Amino acid sequence: MTKRVRVRFAPSPTGPLHIGGVRTALFNYLFAKKHNGDFILRIEDTDQKRFVKGAEEYIIDSLNWCKMPYDEGPGKDGGHGPYRQSERKELYRKYADILLEKGAAYYAFDTSEELDAHRKDHEAKGKTFIYNHHNRLKLTNSLVLSEEETNKRITAGDEFVIRFKSPTDTKIHLNDLVRGKMEIDSNVLDDKVLFKSDGMPTYHLANIVDDHLMDISHVIRGEEWLPSLALHQLLYEAFGWDVPQFAHLPLIMKPVGKGKLSKRDGEKLGFPVFPLTWNESIGYKESGYFPEAVVNFLALLGWNPGTEQEIFSLEELVTTFDISRVNKSGARFDPDKTKWYNHHYMQQHSNKELAKDFTTILQNKEAHISEERLVLPYVEEVVALIKERATFIQDFWELANFFFVAPDSYNEKAVKKQWKEDTPSIMKQLVSLLETISDFTAQNVETKVKEWIGEQGLAFGKVMPPLRLITVGDMKGPDMFKILELIGKEDSIERIKKAIAVL
Ligand code: GLU
Repeated sequence: MTKRVRVRFAPSPTGPLHIGGVRTALFNYLFAKKHNGDFILRIEDTDQKRFVKGAEEYIIDSLNWCKMPYDEGPGKDGGHGPYRQSERKELYRKYADILLEKGAAYYAFDTSEELDAHRKDHEAKGKTFIYNHHNRLKLTNSLVLSEEETNKRITAGDEFVIRFKSPTDTKIHLNDLVRGKMEIDSNVLDDKVLFKSDGMPTYHLANIVDDHLMDISHVIRGEEWLPSLALHQLLYEAFGWDVPQFAHLPLIMKPVGKGKLSKRDGEKLGFPVFPLTWNESIGYKESGYFPEAVVNFLALLGWNPGTEQEIFSLEELVTTFDISRVNKSGARFDPDKTKWYNHHYMQQHSNKELAKDFTTILQNKEAHISEERLVLPYVEEVVALIKERATFIQDFWELANFFFVAPDSYNEKAVKKQWKEDTPSIMKQLVSLLETISDFTAQNVETKVKEWIGEQGLAFGKVMPPLRLITVGDMKGPDMFKILELIGKEDSIERIKKAIAVL
């Protein structure tokens, strides 16, 4: 029987979740759902010094915003909890002891001052100090001290750590679902600390123990953990446990230049790097991104479907996602593409939904907007006319303010070009015409205005561009007659009269 797929996202609550972390969560989520498995959230908070208040809530809120809720984790017990490592801390020492008993780990009493001195000494000779088979027998640990001496030190309360005893002269064979087979020489590994002097496990021990106890079948995580893979596999083997399968995801690279995407890149180029706002760093959500857009662009950062398809809903991703199509090389982040996706998803959203959000924005505007223009059906009609030009809901006001308030100024350049000597008299005649129209629909007004233009022998350019300029304030906006219909007869006429008076 094949093992049930169980994957975990295991962030450390040391601050806001970076967009790269969201991508890791997404790939775990997709893999789990694709295989009808479980997606688990585990909070790796063993490093109390780096713990940041609010970070766990932030992580959970981010997952929920992206609509990738976890099946098991804090607050959702699936029989493998607790899901915060700080709540599991009693459990790790036992596992460190198992390794000590098996001779796969040892106590080390070297103080940090002593270790620093060794490092400096090696540096001076142009070498790097590694705590492993090269020199472990020259240091202060239970491999060198007698059992009696070791016990004496422990009972006396001497500070110690527990280190992994990495094998000597062994070829370690590793497999990664993204990178394939790899071979590592065990002599390059150092004897990593598994258990610290403060009584807490390190990441390595806690991570392996929890993945085992939580029955994790696949470990999908960022490439920065690839160097730890050999140690992790050795730990599983030392315990005599099944080794899960591993997949290390490629880095997300800066939009330009070398290196991985950082918070600074976002600040420099003006795009968010966090899903939600965190202190002064604005998030994707608050910048006006739809979660569907974020999920879609993240999915294609490091994974390719093998086709030209670029638009994927979360459901489609679940069926299409294939871990073997995750790329080995870094994925370049493209801020313009994120906007392209948002524009796409904007068109998918119903006008009603968008209108609701836009109404909230309108209600907070200082401009005096009359009540009948704040009702949903009106805002909805406006949204239908402008959303094609918008990337974010925040763009709506810029594109549509004239539907709500008359312009208080006119683009000067356009005035020079469009407002000629005979314009006021033409506009006066236009007012007279509009006053006679009772059915003020775009279609009817258009027919009447065009007829009148024809009868008068006027050029189109003498009427329509100045009309737009004085109705909108600028030479922009959707269909002119649609604008007139929406703002209505009274306001249309008023705007023309006002322009005649002031221009
Ligand atoms: N706590 C680690 C992190 O913050 C988890 C790494 C892993 O998934 O093994 O990235």
